[in-house]
Amino acid sequence: MEIRKEIDSKINNTFDFLKLGYAYIIPEVKNILNETKKISNHKYNTHHLTCSCKEYRLAAKIFPRRDLRRLCKHLYLSLLIEHPEKLDPLTRLLVETNFWLGKQILFKSKLNGAVFYFGVIIPTDHVSIFLKNITWQRYVYDFVNLDWRNDLYPPQGDLIINKIKKIINSKIEFIDASEIK
Ligand SMILES: [Zn+2]
Repeated sequence: MEIRKEIDSKINNTFDFLKLGYAYIIPEVKNILNETKKISNHKYNTHHLTCSCKEYRLAAKIFPRRDLRRLCKHLYLSLLIEHPEKLDPLTRLLVETNFWLGKQILFKSKLNGAVFYFGVIIPTDHVSIFLKNITWQRYVYDFVNLDWRNDLYPPQGDLIINKIKKIINSKIEFIDASEIK
């Protein structure tokens, strides 16, 4: 019982952080049948992006319909394994990143008129940047090494990082400022 409470409070803490972020609404996906499937004890519907598990039910009390932050592991798996080719490239990148790294606090911003998104996880040593460079791509900037990971550099990377630091420092006071130089 105590463990259960601890897990619930951990989930609620995560939600408090996530509330700071942008509400990315997953576009309606054509060709995903409206059917309810079962995995272990949970029923999920990938067409409506709903699930009966506790993670989903808690998130559904806070975040709007089709909000990326509502997705639970059952919906991540269904989207990425059963229907990966049906997702638009940006949604697929965001879902994959949340699935592998955990739910990010997502932000939406603009640089010279071009929209980009970025996501952080608390505590963080890096930021994921999603921007369209021919197609949507994910770039990772490392706050410890002050460099881009995997030798992937976005166009105007320095300007993007300056903008991101300003936004993070103004919105997320609980990150130790010394971590974000
Ligand atoms: Zn679920």
